[in-house]
Amino acid sequence: MAELRVLCVHAHPDDEAIWTGGTLARYADEGAVTAVVTCTWAEGTRRAGELERSLAILGAGEPLLLGYADARKPESAPGAPRFVDVPLDETVGQLVEHIRRLRPDVVLTYDGYGVYGHPDHVHAHRVAMAAVEAAGYDQLHHEAGDPWRPRALYLATIPRSVVLSHWRAVFGADPDPGRTLPGVPDDRITTHLDVSRWSERKWAAMHAHESEVGRGASMTMLTALPEPARALMLANEWYRRVSFTGAPPTGGVETALG
Ligand SMILES: [Zn+2]
Repeated sequence: MAELRVLCVHAHPDDEAIWTGGTLARYADEGAVTAVVTCTWAEGTRRAGELERSLAILGAGEPLLLGYADARKPESAPGAPRFVDVPLDETVGQLVEHIRRLRPDVVLTYDGYGVYGHPDHVHAHRVAMAAVEAAGYDQLHHEAGDPWRPRALYLATIPRSVVLSHWRAVFGADPDPGRTLPGVPDDRITTHLDVSRWSERKWAAMHAHESEVGRGASMTMLTALPEPARALMLANEWYRRVSFTGAPPTGGVETALG
């Protein structure tokens, strides 16, 4: 079988490790060509350097930066607009260019809620959805190369049952009724990857993002989980598959990208 080509589209340096680190390490080891486009933070910033180290650990090549500003951190790209403010056609065109050059079989990004609602994550989802579809049309973005149609888009997420069990482990009670929770209902998960063999690499890639570890961001929340819950998050990655060619797989949850 020809080698699989995998492209991740992430909002920030560190998301590639947190949400797709096990998948990237697993498929790189299996001979896939893997790459990551990161929408915010500019070349030359500290976090771009941390991204470079994380990608080296995961075997995912050099950073591919769109170079826009984080919605909440102007220092991420001095003088550049916020990613969420750039006209959609412009960012879609940039991503179409990466897709047509890299010719991925599958593209990975966040679910429609950006897993937990960060505006940059939600926007990266929108741009990736639009770009994967647009990349296949020869009428669109002529300047961006020959049309290419990935087979599927995988939306990284967390099953709601896992969110609820972590919530109970951390807070000792159920969330208040009506509270907006991360992830999606379990029956929307199409793909569950066991990445337990790559947990340590994923953890190492996460720690390449030293400034985020220091700041108390998502990774610190992961560190704060009780050990069994943290191990579960490191050893498993979940997706909702959106097919762009033919019918989605039927007959239960798949255990590999296809
Ligand atoms: Zn993020």
